[in-house]
Amino acid sequence: MLDLTGKNALVTGIANNRSIAWGIAQQLHKAGANLGITYLPDEKGRMEKKVAELVEPLNPSLFVPCNVQDDAQIKSTFETVGEKWGKLDILIHCLAFAGKDELTGDFSKTSRAGFTQALEISAYSLVQLGAAAKPLMTEGGSIVTLTYLGGVRVIPNYNVMGIAKAALEMNVRYLAAELGPQNVRVNAISAGPIRTLASSAVGGILDMIHHVEEIAPLRRTVTQLEVGNTAAFLCSDLASGITGQVLYVDAGYAIMGM
Ligand code: NAD
Repeated sequence: MLDLTGKNALVTGIANNRSIAWGIAQQLHKAGANLGITYLPDEKGRMEKKVAELVEPLNPSLFVPCNVQDDAQIKSTFETVGEKWGKLDILIHCLAFAGKDELTGDFSKTSRAGFTQALEISAYSLVQLGAAAKPLMTEGGSIVTLTYLGGVRVIPNYNVMGIAKAALEMNVRYLAAELGPQNVRVNAISAGPIRTLASSAVGGILDMIHHVEEIAPLRRTVTQLEVGNTAAFLCSDLASGITGQVLYVDAGYAIMGM
């Protein structure tokens, strides 16, 4: 049985009720995990308020700001985890960012600044959070990140985010190799396209979704809760032999050639 009772799970990347991280948080909660939620702070405190209201029914025992571009916030987030929980079992890395200009048109016009920013927030952040989680995962653990097909194949307009996802998927393998001896598993879920705040920045996202609905074996795309179910599985003992993998939750789209 899928049971996460007694597991402490830190979930990053909830922005609103469309976020994939929200789907994951709900399913981890349903499986009995004790939740900690991070949010991306803004000057007016809007995100804090919005996310706090959304996650309240899940009774998170920890709610902290964590901008992955801010080393001090990462440090303080994991210090809080150490102080309040003592150990961490599950880390959900469910965040990414690239400027809207980078997510439409020719890939070759990717700017140096846009490239650096996308790779830093969307890929390097997993290295940072993994490093911070490592000493707290004293009883083993599971780290799950979110990737997309655009990291292995060319998807129009996905551009620099495809490069970031390729780097992210390789980060998964290097981290899995390093953390495996302490029984920490690291995996990625490659989700099919879902309408969210982040995906709305990708040019032609609705066309991408319609295309998947026509082509994918299941003739639809996936939901946040389906991704959440897979994340809960990967974080559970049912997946105890799985690490360093990219698991496709995409209604089968990635297997199709024509
Ligand atoms: P979303 O907009 O709901 O989530 C993105 C999150 O990233 C937000 O919560 C945002 O606050 C956070 N974020 C951005 N910059 C950050 C920073 N500097 N520090 C901390 N957090 C930051 O969109 P989503 O689609 O749920 O995206 C979640 C993950 O799923 C991303 O990695 C995305 O690439 C991936 N993914 C999305 C799809 C899709 O179609 N929506 C498909 C496959 C993979």
